[in-house]
Amino acid sequence: MPSRRAIYPGSFDPLTNGHLSLIQRGLKVFDGLVVAVANNPAKKALFSVDDRKRMIREAVNGDPRVVIDSFDGLLVDYAKQQGVHTVLRGLRAVSDFEYEFQIANMNRKLDPEFESVFMMTGEDYFYVASSLVREVASFGGDVSGLVPPNVTAALRARFAR
Ligand code: ADP
Repeated sequence: MPSRRAIYPGSFDPLTNGHLSLIQRGLKVFDGLVVAVANNPAKKALFSVDDRKRMIREAVNGDPRVVIDSFDGLLVDYAKQQGVHTVLRGLRAVSDFEYEFQIANMNRKLDPEFESVFMMTGEDYFYVASSLVREVASFGGDVSGLVPPNVTAALRARFAR
């Protein structure tokens, strides 16, 4: 049987335990995942794309089923380049639904081959979002437990200055 792969795209600024949980659960459904960091110049990022990729690489600890990459421009174009037509996205709350529904339909309009698969977050992480983690860390709050240890260290170093 041919192997099934999906792209898991996002900003990952920075990676959280919610993302990691989705990667682990995605690997129960797919044989491999391409975790693709979106390089979106319009969004002012805390960490560079290379830093974000490195933190993901460290956190997945060399799992051979996970490829870490980045992309510019349209997700459907990147997916075509990769020869992967399935995208994995997470749903945290009802508030994610409307946005994801719009994007999924737009992507299918751009590429009829394109499919989006949604997995719901575990109850431990439904409130964890990168933006909230950045905000709490910027005020010196403790985010360990919400992000992997290497990300806690990177956030401390970033906001120590
Ligand atoms: P984007 O800017 O593309 O939304 P994010 O890094 O915020 O990028 O999120 C990437 C994907 O991971 C999205 O599908 C998002 O819904 C999902 N995600 C983020 N945090 C969680 C979480 N705590 N649990 C499950 N999925 C999550």
